[in-house]
Amino acid sequence: VHEELRQKEKLVIIGQMAATIGHEIRNPLASLKGFAQLQHEQFPNQNAYYPIMIQEIDRIDVIVNDLMYIGKPKAIWIEQINIKGIIEYTISIMSQQADAQNIIIESSYAEHLPLVECDEKQLKQVFINLIKNAIEATTNGGTIKINVQLLEEGKINISISDEGCGIKSEDIPNLTTPFYTTKKSGTGLGLVVINQIIKEHNGAIKIDSDLGIGTKVTVTLPIRQKL
Ligand code: ADP
Ligand code: MG
Repeated sequence: VHEELRQKEKLVIIGQMAATIGHEIRNPLASLKGFAQLQHEQFPNQNAYYPIMIQEIDRIDVIVNDLMYIGKPKAIWIEQINIKGIIEYTISIMSQQADAQNIIIESSYAEHLPLVECDEKQLKQVFINLIKNAIEATTNGGTIKINVQLLEEGKINISISDEGCGIKSEDIPNLTTPFYTTKKSGTGLGLVVINQIIKEHNGAIKIDSDLGIGTKVTVTLPIRQKL
């Protein structure tokens, strides 16, 4: 419990710092990106580094965004949302990256899914991060399967399974620690943000993994939010 409290305090401090300097970083970043894009459009064949610059600026933006979210979560905006729509949208966003790595993303849904009370933007972020992790774990091609099931007691289960590298069982508790990453250019913030968003929706997240075989992440959400 003591450790958990310290962890929370740490997140609050990181969040306050990030919120203060976040805006200051994002404004000049936006103008840098604008000028890089302009240069690239005007002289498309002249400098191959502009797309890389734009990509790296986007990366800084994602990191700053995640940092600003942690410790200072945005208020959630609950609406009745078609979960299938959100997932199909997310798959379409990630399909280019998946194609480039010979990864197929399959999705299946229970019939007659009800609308789910949730924050559309935040849930999109959850699924983008989860599919991104699944893609990054998969090096030799494979299939990512997304399945949506209706549970009794007014809940819905969304699972994302990959055939990637898997996670050692002793590492699973570390995954929601800020900045924990096993990737060369990871931030270790993805699952921290996911965890926070799911918690705010009164949901739960479960990670099952077999090293060398694959990982299954299951998100459980209530269909209705208590007021
Ligand atoms: P990042 O992706 O920046 O490393 P995350 O918080 O998204 O940060 O993930 C933390 C770590 O959890 C990853 O570095 C990786 O070791 C592990 N991980 C997450 N998802 C998967 C997955 N689907 N397969 C294997 N490892 C994963
Ligand atoms: Mg990640």
